[in-house]
This record gives sequence, C-alpha cells and structure tokens, in this order.
Amino acid sequence: MIRKETTAFGVNAKDDKIRYESSSGGMFSLLAMEVLSIGGVICGAALSDDCRTLTHVIINNLDELAKIRKSKYFQSRIGDIYGKILDILNTGKMVLFSGTPCQVAGLKKFLRKDYSNLITIEVICHGVPSSKLWRKYLDWIEKKYGKNVKSVNFRSKKDSWERFGVVEKLDDEEYIYNHHRDNPYFALFLSNCCLRPSCYSCQTKKIADISLGDLWGIEEIAPDLDDGKGTSLVLINSEKGKRIWEKVKSKTVFQEILYERAVENNVCIERSVLKPTLRDTFFGDMNRMQFGQLAFMYRYPTLKLKVKHIIKIVFMRKLGGR
Ligand SMILES: Cc1cc2nc3c(=O)[nH]c(=O)nc-3n(C[C@H](O)[C@H](O)[C@H](O)COP(=O)(O)OP(=O)(O)OC[C@H]3O[C@@H](n4cnc5c(N)ncnc54)[C@H](O)[C@@H]3O)c2cc1C
Repeated sequence: MIRKETTAFGVNAKDDKIRYESSSGGMFSLLAMEVLSIGGVICGAALSDDCRTLTHVIINNLDELAKIRKSKYFQSRIGDIYGKILDILNTGKMVLFSGTPCQVAGLKKFLRKDYSNLITIEVICHGVPSSKLWRKYLDWIEKKYGKNVKSVNFRSKKDSWERFGVVEKLDDEEYIYNHHRDNPYFALFLSNCCLRPSCYSCQTKKIADISLGDLWGIEEIAPDLDDGKGTSLVLINSEKGKRIWEKVKSKTVFQEILYERAVENNVCIERSVLKPTLRDTFFGDMNRMQFGQLAFMYRYPTLKLKVKHIIKIVFMRKLGGR
C-alpha cells in the first residue's frame, strides 16, 4: 500500500569523495556512518570476489562500508541474514537494513513486530534482474577478452552521474567502459525482459523508513543541486526515518521538493514496470542462446531497431571506431 505522508528531498553529501563513490548523492553512506558511529551495524548487498554472486552481509566498521555501498543490478541473496539481524536486535544494538522493498518486507514479516533499534532503507526499485543472466554476461565478457573480471562498477561517474557508465576491471588492470545504454547487460535490464516475476506487480513499495533513489529530473526540480556529481532522492516515510534524517542532514546540501514532481520523473517510486510480451520467451532463450545472441534479440526487439544497430556498427567501423 502506498503511504501518502512522505516528505521528499534532493540531497548531496557535502563530502565529494562519498558522492563519487556512491550511486547517486551518497545518502546511504551518510545514514550508515551515523549508525556505525553509535556502535550499530549495517546490512547491505556485497559482491563476491569473482563478482558472480551478490549476498546480503552485516558490517560493523567503516572500513567495510565500501563493499556494500553502490547499486549492483541483479538479485542479492538473503540467505540466513534475517535470523542474524534478529539476534543483533535482541542485544539492543542499532541495525540499519538496506535492500529492495521486497527484502525489507521480508525482514518485517520475519521479525513479526516492530523494533525501535531497527531502521530500514529501501532502494527505489525498477525491478531486479536474474543473477543467472548476470553470470552468463560475465562468462561472455571473460571469454571475449580471455581474462577474468576482477571488479565491477555499475554506476561509474567518469563522464557524469546522468551519463553514468558500467565498468568492468579485468585481472590485468585493463578497464572496459561503456555508457550504460551501450552495455548489453544494462540494456537488457532496461528492456525489462529479465526481471523477477513479482517485479511486474510489486506490492511492497515505500515500506521502509526511508526510500533512496536518484533525483532524475533534477534540472527542473532542483537545478541548484545539479552539478553532475550525483543527487539522491530521499523519501522520508516514517517518524524513525525523520529522526535519523534530522541527525545527518547537516552533512548534506539539501532541498525539499514536491513528492509529486519526484514521482513524475521516477515512476518506479509508486508503480511497477510493465511486463513486456517478450518476457515470456526470454528465460527459455537465455538457457539455450549465447549471451551475445540473446542481447541482440532482446535489446533490439523490432526489425527496425536491429537494422539501425547494424548500420551504426558498420558506420563506426568505417570511422575506425569499435
Ligand atoms: C535493482 C535496483 C534497481 C533500482 N532502480 C531504481 C530506480 O528505478 N529509480 C531510482 O531512482 N533508483 C533506483 N535504484 C537505486 C539507485 O541505484 C541508488 O541505489 C540510490 O540512488 C541510492 O544511492 P546512494 O548513493 O544513496 O547509495 P549507494 O551507495 O548506491 O547504496 C545503495 C544501497 O543499495 C544496496 N544494494 C545495492 N544493490 C542491491 C541489490 N541488488 N539488492 C538489494 N540491495 C542492493 C546497497 O547495499 C546499499 O545499501 C535501484 C537500485 C537497485 C539495486
């Protein structure tokens, strides 16, 4: 159920390093730092060393914060983390849980009652792609380059926050950088063919104390905050959310914005994405096709788009590009 008493802010962390290392304006890191400073713990999604698996883990110090900050656009494993959170909550320690709205809903259901020492954060969620697709993509990249992928950044701000890129760092330090729309995995994510079935009718939006996203539409909604370094959209959904926001807001430059304006530019705040017809055949094809073939089929779903893509490639090759 969508709650209406939300307050919305555009937020930039004052510390540029935090902003650069975050997906949007660094709001998650500021909230995490506040909880760590009072002896609490943070639960968020961390990539495995081979980048193939994403798992929710608990950290209790600043040195580990880097591994759970930033968006990774595929399914994170919850495993037995809810039980571990319950044990920590029962010691009286503060816990900050960050995940997708459905993961927050799952935690609340597991706990069965409200805990005053639990704060929940959800990402404003477009939907979550299959981890099998992500592993297939990595296998394809590694085969293509003959090297292992050492790290991945889904939200590189090398060009700017709005024109963010996806970067894979290979084991000889070579980087692969693509604007997100040119990265075949990200293009499939945006095509909506590869999301979990429940993502097309999400029932859990705005269930957490705070929702965090990107302030898309910033140039019209809050131009004074717009310096290309990334701005978080922060939705305060509860009294608990308001209390922690009051504690961290001095570490930010912020502006209150109209909630309705934020929704106009970021429909996933309230609505699920539509299920494309191609979703029905995607997973069958994923199991039998090479990744390159799959990406070509589904990111350019019409003949017109396929032809346009081929012309672009031929043109770029003639110019001596990729
Ligand atoms: C799958 C997905 C879809 C998203 N869709 C949108 C959208 O449509 N519109 C929008 O405005 N924002 C969306 N976001 C949120 C956005 O990418 C940023 O995470 C958000 O702006 C917060 O940025 P930040 O700089 O404050 O924090 P960051 O440092 O980016 O922290 C992000 C937090 O999300 C957690 N996280 C990262 N990946 C996952 C994952 N796969 N599953 C669960 N938790 C994860 C991290 O542990 C961390 O706590 C999405 C995020 C994800 C993971």
